[in-house]
Amino acid sequence: RMAYMAHYDSLTGLPNRVTMQEHLEKVMRKPQAPNTVRALLWGDLDNFKWVNDTLGHPAGDELLRQVSARLNVMAEKTDIVARLGGDEFAMVIERPAGGALEAFLNRLIEHMRKPYDLWGSTAHCSASFGVRVFDTFTTDTREVLKHADLALYEAKRTGKAQWSMFTNDLEATAQARVQIEGELERAIDNDELRVFFQPLVDASSHQILGVESLLRWQHPTRGLVFPDEFIEMAEDNGLITRMGEWMIRAALKEAARLPDHVKVAVNISPLQIHSSTLVATIVNGLAANNIKPNRLELEITESVLMTDTEFTLKRLHQIKDLGVRISLDDFGTGYSSLSYLRAFPFDKIKIDKSFVKDIESRSESRAIAMATLSLAKSLGMRCTAEGVETKYQADFLRDHGCDELQGFFISRAQPLDNLLHIVEVRRRPDTEGAEVLQIEQPVESTVVPFTAEKRA
Ligand code: C2E
Ligand code: CA
Ligand code: CA
Repeated sequence: RMAYMAHYDSLTGLPNRVTMQEHLEKVMRKPQAPNTVRALLWGDLDNFKWVNDTLGHPAGDELLRQVSARLNVMAEKTDIVARLGGDEFAMVIERPAGGALEAFLNRLIEHMRKPYDLWGSTAHCSASFGVRVFDTFTTDTREVLKHADLALYEAKRTGKAQWSMFTNDLEATAQARVQIEGELERAIDNDELRVFFQPLVDASSHQILGVESLLRWQHPTRGLVFPDEFIEMAEDNGLITRMGEWMIRAALKEAARLPDHVKVAVNISPLQIHSSTLVATIVNGLAANNIKPNRLELEITESVLMTDTEFTLKRLHQIKDLGVRISLDDFGTGYSSLSYLRAFPFDKIKIDKSFVKDIESRSESRAIAMATLSLAKSLGMRCTAEGVETKYQADFLRDHGCDELQGFFISRAQPLDNLLHIVEVRRRPDTEGAEVLQIEQPVESTVVPFTAEKRA
């Protein structure tokens, strides 16, 4: 009984991780029959947490038993099915060469995605699989497991309910990721972060009203790196808190060089809201640069409000009580923006660029833009449209009551000193003679050639 317990999972009766590993070692030592492929499958349920949270742990256990039964049904006599722990399962299988493995995997995915009946409740819980085909060069079981795990990560990343095969590229990507993570950590200390500014202008007069601060990474060898390549990573590994606070300080320091009527917006990531130093960073940044709180606008997305709502709302009110303004970014792209509009008195709504993009070509986008504008008006909130690229879009938005425009039609994000044609910028306090540099005429034709910022 002791031996059994050491080798089998008590919930499902399947071999456990230890047995699986022993089996894997045995298989990998055994010479492979000609015209066959052997592979390790690492599977993970896509929705297990949801089942546990909504239907309860006994239902979760029942689901795991049914999953193991389904895997057993699909398996052939010589295959081995194991439960690695939690909602993770593994299979070691052998199939004839020439497509049988792929066909099996497709059937497996289809079979696993059928709804489960848990004592009368229906649960939808598909599975994803990472696949590592054995070859003669790899004899280390740990490596094979690691590769299957990387493939599983890829299957999840690209949409779940599917299988993904390990390739050397995946390993290279994973290694690159580790490397970038390390470099990103050093980027702050090495002074490689830059703040660019994109103007927000009055929709009618096209006079500047504010700027949005956008982060750039001046990488020593890769050149200018854009946030979509590193923000998510920084959010995953927690670095975003330090980076975000660097951004607040840097943006406010630069804002001190702008005229007093020009507001400065900073993007705030969900994790930052939970940081105990956020409020202090804001207060210090405002004081150090002698900036009135109502010049600062924090842009948050509704994802900020999706978890731990009570705490988040308290924190947002605390910031708003300082006089700082709060905008709801990327409006319309999430799940339930409308209820969030009622939960917090935002100062501004930003219509997401995905709607602005199609204003000319799609009536749905026009309808959504118009509805958002009238919603903002009724709620007494300002409204900015982002991603404005054409005169048609700018005119349409102005005619339908949009307050502010932001987008390539006005200007790309630039270092502050490249925006002199749009706004008057004081010299840096650390350079000689801190007088006003130059004032250009307010932009007549707002189409500004992009110079500083060019994507590779
Ligand atoms: P976002 O807050 O929605 O910022 C607007 C993005 O749209 C910027 O991309 C901007 O360059 C781009 N954009 C502006 N006008 C146009 C246009 O007319 N057409 C098109 N196609 N795009 C336009 P960027 O700078 O690459 O930033 C991407 C995202 O990265 C931002 O989206 C924001 O979510 C995030 N991000 C940037 N800086 C920070 C930061 O300091 N902290 C945090 N937490 N996130 C940041
Ligand atoms: Ca933003
Ligand atoms: Ca946005």
